[in-house]
Amino acid sequence: HEQYVLSGKDGYKYRKVSYEPYTGPKEKATFVTLARNSDLYSLLESIKSVEDRFNSKFQYDWVFLNDEEFTEEFKNVTSALISGQTKYGLVPKEHWSFPSWIDQDKAAAVREEMRAKKIIYGDSISYRHMCRFESGFFYRHPLLDDYDWYWRVEPDIKLHCDINYDVFKFMADNNKKYAFTISIKEYEATIPTLWKTTRDFMALHPEYLPENNMLDFLSDDDGESYNLCHFWSNFEIASLDLWRGEAYSAYFEYLDKAGGFFYERWGDAPVHSIAASLFLERDQIHHFGDLGYYHVPFHQCPIDDDVRLGNRCDCDPKKDFTWHSYSCGSKFYAVNKLPRPDGWQEHSS
Ligand code: GDP
Ligand code: MN
Repeated sequence: HEQYVLSGKDGYKYRKVSYEPYTGPKEKATFVTLARNSDLYSLLESIKSVEDRFNSKFQYDWVFLNDEEFTEEFKNVTSALISGQTKYGLVPKEHWSFPSWIDQDKAAAVREEMRAKKIIYGDSISYRHMCRFESGFFYRHPLLDDYDWYWRVEPDIKLHCDINYDVFKFMADNNKKYAFTISIKEYEATIPTLWKTTRDFMALHPEYLPENNMLDFLSDDDGESYNLCHFWSNFEIASLDLWRGEAYSAYFEYLDKAGGFFYERWGDAPVHSIAASLFLERDQIHHFGDLGYYHVPFHQCPIDDDVRLGNRCDCDPKKDFTWHSYSCGSKFYAVNKLPRPDGWQEHSS
């Protein structure tokens, strides 16, 4: 068997590798999916794609979390498709409700205002609980205690390419802590005070920022303002220790006390992205440019023919979002001084 693999060190340089079907030791890693029972059938598409393209070769476990009990149907059908062990957990009420310090009237007024302004999910309570849970609580669920690494999967996603190497082992071997496929700019109206709150936190805790952090991915004026770039968190492969650690624990608590998950509509994507970019060394963040990925409405599709055809991708490179001007992909490669693939400019609009 052969596969084209993008090197973590040199950006878009790839090498062709041969491999034997995997039988060796595995990382302590799991897929993790937060879902409602009603998400079952759109989730199956995602599971099928992840199993066919990757996990049938490695048999990693899969943890499902829900704010309500999963039905027997949900458990039976998902476990039939998954090659690893499946585990089903209930989110504790404290992790899916308004904290005591939140002013309910103020939060309700904000939802009404955002509804009038037609801000996406602006009037939703459950979406806010979801964002807060994915920001600060999923990694504290006891079912995740057994693991060092996770890969987040949502309903209705697709992997476009074969993945014949162990991505978790890749992370461990290359000292990576956080990885993404697609990056994009956030709607400013959902996070008006997130950056100010973050700056206040940084001023209190400069010790959490390593010298070689990636602030220049987040800000074009040395931290004055946020350029809205973030990693799309519907896909994440990351170290659980990143979130369990002291820096992120303090940061999440600071954000939670500020109330922006309810008084605004802070998303877990900008929260995770800001934290990873500030608290990690820049070369601990990896772009998986070789997987091929889809979550409505954007595709990642390797534009390099050798990578795309060699890895049996089933996507149209004209639809690749990575180098588009609304994406922050180009910025990531620029600030980290990584080479971009030939022809990326033709995919930038
Ligand atoms: P979007 O991608 O931002 O449009 O948001 P999604 O609707 O895909 O939700 C993000 C993730 O959270 C998905 O995995 C959903 O299945 C899950 N999710 C969203 N809302 C809820 C909820 O109220 N309860 C549960 N259990 N899961 C939810
Ligand atoms: Mn989604």
